[in-house]
Amino acid sequence: MSEHLRRIGDKELRPESLMMSYGYDPRRSEGAIKSPIFMTSTFTFKSAEEGKRFFEVAYGLREKDPKEELGLIYSRLNNPDIQILEERLTVWDGAEACASFESGMAAIATTLLAMLRPGDVVLHSVPVYGGTDYLLYNILPKWGVTAKGFRACDGTAGMKQALAELGDDAERVAMIFVETPANPTNDLVDILDAVALASRTTRDGRKVRVVVDNTFLGPLWQQPLQHGADVVVYSATKFLGGHSDVIAGAVLCSEELMAPIKTHRTILGTMCGPWTAWLLMRSLETLKLRMTSQMKNARYVADFLADHPKVDKVHYLGHLTEQHPQWETYRRQCLAPGSMIAFEVHGGEAAAFRLLNALKLVKLAVSLGGTESLAEHPATMTHADIAVADQRSMGITGSMVRLSVGVEHPEDVIADLRQALDAV
Ligand SMILES: *Cc1c(COP(=O)(O)O)cnc(C)c1O
Repeated sequence: MSEHLRRIGDKELRPESLMMSYGYDPRRSEGAIKSPIFMTSTFTFKSAEEGKRFFEVAYGLREKDPKEELGLIYSRLNNPDIQILEERLTVWDGAEACASFESGMAAIATTLLAMLRPGDVVLHSVPVYGGTDYLLYNILPKWGVTAKGFRACDGTAGMKQALAELGDDAERVAMIFVETPANPTNDLVDILDAVALASRTTRDGRKVRVVVDNTFLGPLWQQPLQHGADVVVYSATKFLGGHSDVIAGAVLCSEELMAPIKTHRTILGTMCGPWTAWLLMRSLETLKLRMTSQMKNARYVADFLADHPKVDKVHYLGHLTEQHPQWETYRRQCLAPGSMIAFEVHGGEAAAFRLLNALKLVKLAVSLGGTESLAEHPATMTHADIAVADQRSMGITGSMVRLSVGVEHPEDVIADLRQALDAV
């Protein structure tokens, strides 16, 4: 059937060519070229027998037939928009299965609750997203799960050191959770090294799983599953959604690992709604165009900043050189430098604030990955809950500004930054 067209002759079609149609059959929707938004809570069964069959599969009362899909029952379990979106998302990361959520935090929380058990330890890179940090240190401990961090800036040595510091508890590590590049410093964690370190088992013989939050570079510029990671999570609010108008999340992994995640999603009710799914499908059609444009623009902006006398330092993956300790990791794991830049303005917090207050085209806001350029101050905004001493040890300074470069003309973004730097 054309809805799953993946190749023409022996030519495999690229992800960007599939984003307008993959997983959708117009014949099921009056020929509509785009999937309608199925704003419905429940679905009628053709017969009582069909309802019975659907529930047998939903509740795992019998094995699915090889070609059988989960029938449509109720929108907390599934919905056409969610299903089509999830099929499209698997294409980019080369994943077997996808689950979509109403936020990135819903995706991360549901995944961790599904994969962890009391007594488990999560080894994680530092810094991680604030919500993830709160989950690891304030919510999961109530369920007997604890966490141990390693600084992304210390590289693989830091990861091994943290494991060693756990002593006997190292065999309780059930998950290595990695956010790379680190926000906002762009330090890289080597996924292959994390996978190698995870090739052990927990006390009770389960495999240690590597989970990567791929929000910053993925799925265009980094594909962790191809490097052996078990699970990829996204805040789809960022690049996948890409227009700063929707909150959403996604998880990608094997069918086997996905089964408990989807069960937890059904019971916790963290699934993505049909309207959110439809917005994300619209976004996916231009994902490559947007991320490519943003990536190219970021290089012009980063080069401008690096040359500016009032800028002390620029943290940008495109400026890594062979001498840099993370060069090999970058070459192996990233396909492009992405569009996130952090830079340090000479003069500390006061200077950074003057710059942020003077921006005109670039908006002062947290979040990232949207079509418009955004700037913020990590030390007092996104990373404000980290103690100042810890911020410094991770390389987050008072003079640091984080920039998410959008799709505007790069010379206009640079003109805005130039006049704002003049005001410093
Ligand atoms: C924004 C973000 C999240 C949380 O996603 P929401 O969609 O806001 O719930 C998680 N991880 C990273 C890296 C993020 O940038």
